[in-house]
This record gives sequence, C-alpha cells and structure tokens, in this order.
Amino acid sequence: MPIIDLRSDTVTKPTVGMREAMFSADVGDDVYGEDPTVNTLEAMAANLLGKEAGLFVPTGVMGNQLSIRLHTRPGDEVIIEASAHILRYEGGSASSLSGVQLCPVSGLRGLLSPETVEAAIRRPDLHTPSTTLLCLEQTHNVGGGSVYPLKTIHQLTDLARKYGLALHLDGARLFNASAKTGVSVAEYAAAFDTVSFCLSKGLGAPVGSVVVSDTGRIEKLRRLRKVFGGGMRQVGILASAGIYALENHVLRLTDDHANALVLAQQLQAISGVVIDVDAVETNMVMFQVPQSTKSTEQLLEECRESDVLLNAVGDRSFRAVTHLDVNLEDMKAAGEIFANVFACA
Ligand SMILES: *Cc1c(COP(=O)(O)O)cnc(C)c1O
Repeated sequence: MPIIDLRSDTVTKPTVGMREAMFSADVGDDVYGEDPTVNTLEAMAANLLGKEAGLFVPTGVMGNQLSIRLHTRPGDEVIIEASAHILRYEGGSASSLSGVQLCPVSGLRGLLSPETVEAAIRRPDLHTPSTTLLCLEQTHNVGGGSVYPLKTIHQLTDLARKYGLALHLDGARLFNASAKTGVSVAEYAAAFDTVSFCLSKGLGAPVGSVVVSDTGRIEKLRRLRKVFGGGMRQVGILASAGIYALENHVLRLTDDHANALVLAQQLQAISGVVIDVDAVETNMVMFQVPQSTKSTEQLLEECRESDVLLNAVGDRSFRAVTHLDVNLEDMKAAGEIFANVFACA
C-alpha cells in the first residue's frame, strides 16, 4: 500500500499534466520583467482576487514578510491572532526583517473578534508603540482550517480602517475558504491592502505564492522581493505550475473538504478519540486521544508503521490534512488504521 501522507497539504507532488505544463513553459528573465509565464500568472491571480497586480514569490512566508515590511516601520506593532502562522511559524522574521513587534490577540479557533482587536489597538501615547497593521489568516491553520465569515472580516477591517491601520490577509488557504462558502476569493480580498495565497498547498503546485495588491504597492513589493533575495530568473517554469493549479485544482478543493469530513466521522466512532466534527470546515481534521496510555510519539510511530503519516500539534493531539494526493479510499484505509492505533479500552 502506498503511504497515506496526511501531515500537510504541502506534500502533494506535481501531476503529469502539471509537469507537462512546466516542461513546455515559455520563460524569460523575470528580474527584467521578461518572463511571460510569470507575467501571466501574476495577472491571472490579480484578476481572480479583484486586485490590480500580483507578485510571484517563492514562499508564503516571503509573501507575508514582504507585506509586513511594506506596511510598517521599525518599532511599529502588528496585531495578529495568537496562534497565527506569522507569529508561530515564520521564524520570528517579522521582528528580525522588519523590526516590528507582534501583538498577539487570542481568537476562537483562530478567528478574532472586533472587541478584542479594538482593545489591542494602541492609542497615541508617548510610551506605546504605534499599531499600524492588522493581519488576518484565512483559513486559519492552527484554528483547524476555520473560515472567517465575510461579515466578521468586514467588522474587523472597518474597525482597522477607523484607526488608520493597514490590512494584510495571509490567505495561504484562501481558495479553501471560498470552496467551502461560495464567497469568491475577490470578495474576501476586497477589504485588504495586500493578500497573499499559496499555490503550494491544496492547489498542488510544487512551489510558490502570489501577493496581490494595487499597482503602486506591487511595485514597492517587487523591489522588496529583490532586497529579501527573492528575485528569480527563468521562473516561468514554476509559475506555469501555478497557472495549471489555478485552472485545474480550484474546483476540486471541495473533494478535500468532503474527504476530511469522512475522516472526521470515522474518528468520531473510535472510543477515546475526542473530535468536534462540526469544526471540520475545510481540509483539516484536529483530534485528541487524551486517555491513551501510549505517548504522542508512540501513536505517531504506530500510524507510520501502518503507512499513515500525520502531525502532532500537542500532547496526544493530532492534525490530519487532506489534499490532492489522497482520495476517499485512502480515508477509509486511514480510518481503519486509526481505529487500531487510537482506540482506548
Ligand atoms: C503554509 C502557510 C504559509 C506559508 O508557508 P510557506 O511554507 O512559506 O509557503 C503562510 N501562512 C499559513 C497560514 C500557512 O499555512
């Protein structure tokens, strides 16, 4: 049996069709703005998200960090949900690369409320840092793939505007949110100054993210990308995978969501597994096995021995992520293995 890898949606490998697109991509020197495939991807992404322009970047981290640099000055404060990717998983780069301090605000399953954000915005005072940016994450990774309702986004962005804050959306999985709710990615993106999204997650490209914004900001971000060491040359070979993903892998995200639900339902039927099936909104399944006599490492190892991989997110707490390279049959196989590994007497 092939390995069922549920650690993340970053593990997908390019399909044959995607590799063919990469093989035949027209390329040029993108630092000179001469790679036609990159230009096509950037225009396509901007168009989809309802913005003027786009910038292809190697990683989601770079997309977020360029945006933070653009919107802030050293010593500023950025309001961010306490378990956000930017705070937890970007190596402290907001402080080291932009000299800003992050102000963590706890949300419910990663989603912030206007009241807590308003309380965190600094009022002008000699002693305090200036709050200049609010970053949201859609879907929220640590929140379990949770989706910000459009209404909440608007409450938060209206509030941020009132206090003169810039707005960045870490939309690593923005297309999953849209696939779930039917709200277009452009509607989600509209209230933000900059939005980044990943091609290398559920969309199945091997590399890449795109930041979209207005033309003026994208020109500044393009310069910052060079400064951060992200200027790439004949990179149409990678951008072509992104175009292929946007053309072929957006609609199928609902399959990943359906598979995640199937997996969650199977987990719910296992004695000792704690899971909130209603919280499975997109392609992530979070569950705990608090009473297990086995350690977290032991549980992971037993899954691995049966060719199922997943990630621990805490003590006897796990995350399984569905994606392009796993199907319904894999869910059933994984469900059986989970029943053997996780069931408590
Ligand atoms: C994956 C991810 C990113 C970007 O990660 P890279 O590995 O740099 O592409 C950013 N934000 C969130 C929420 C993510 O899940």
